[in-house]
Amino acid sequence: MTAIRLDGKLTAAAIKQELTTRVAELKAQGAHLGLGTIVVGDDPASAIYVAGKHRDCAEVGIDSIQVQLSADATQAEVAAQIARLNADMACTGFIVQLPLPGHLDADALLASIDPDKDVDGLTPVNFGRLMSGAQGVRPCTPRGIVELLTRYDVPLRGADVCIVGRGLTVGRPLAVLLSAHGVDATVTQCHSATKDLIAHTRVADIVVVATGRPHMLQADMVKPGAVVIDVGVTRVDGKPVGDVAPEVGEVASFLAPNPGGVGPMTRAMLLANLVDLAERA
Ligand code: NAP
Repeated sequence: MTAIRLDGKLTAAAIKQELTTRVAELKAQGAHLGLGTIVVGDDPASAIYVAGKHRDCAEVGIDSIQVQLSADATQAEVAAQIARLNADMACTGFIVQLPLPGHLDADALLASIDPDKDVDGLTPVNFGRLMSGAQGVRPCTPRGIVELLTRYDVPLRGADVCIVGRGLTVGRPLAVLLSAHGVDATVTQCHSATKDLIAHTRVADIVVVATGRPHMLQADMVKPGAVVIDVGVTRVDGKPVGDVAPEVGEVASFLAPNPGGVGPMTRAMLLANLVDLAERA
């Protein structure tokens, strides 16, 4: 690969170091910081993700509050745990680990999270704040992508950015963040009905791919010297595979690889969101 690696692991480690200092300052002022997680069922992938989040918390000095419910938990039982964490003074913010079992109404449950404890930034109120530019919690993955680009001094103002994917956790909020006043990129959002995808990716200064289609971005779809961010993750033969083909590394100037790019940034932004909330309290 000739592209310079946008190293999410290294960058996340630096961010965690900064957060450790901010957490220590908050604690010195008498604040208590706690991250809550609500997990429903025993999906092994969810268990790994949540364990990672709590390890991250321990690293920077944030307490963990773990709620585990059985796979057949009712809507009312999950809602009761959300209400409990909404009211718990020891809980600065919390997440409901997705996906939830199919019998639960995930949208209704997410909407019942106190927006000022919504560290994932996925409640309707925080989406509204994002759209209007008001202060609020930004979704972790889009925030992590902007942070990674910024820390590597990738110019965003006036840049042509092509985002492939319009999902609610990545593509859609990322388009809003990048085109916001102050960031000022020009964003093209592509999706499965885009007529001529390559016509859009090939002219972009920055291409972000968040589709969950293994190696869908090929080298001939990228302008030489472009910056490429690989977000999608799919398991193929038990191994995680990104949306970006390895040959893209020969064409791009900077590449956020997968794994090791956006994933660690997403985790670091969960902590950053929580510390921001504690500082605002
Ligand atoms: P999603 O809601 O399923 O969205 C996927 C998007 O990709 C949709 O907008 C879909 O278009 C589009 N798409 C699918 N095939 C396409 C194609 N051939 N050409 C163009 N667009 C296509 O998924 P998501 O939640 O946004 O997540 C996207 C990927 O990112 C997943 O692999 C997920 O695991 C990964 N992810 C990674 C991280 C991380 O930290 N690394 C965090 C979050 C998500 P339509 O809307 O037309 O269907």
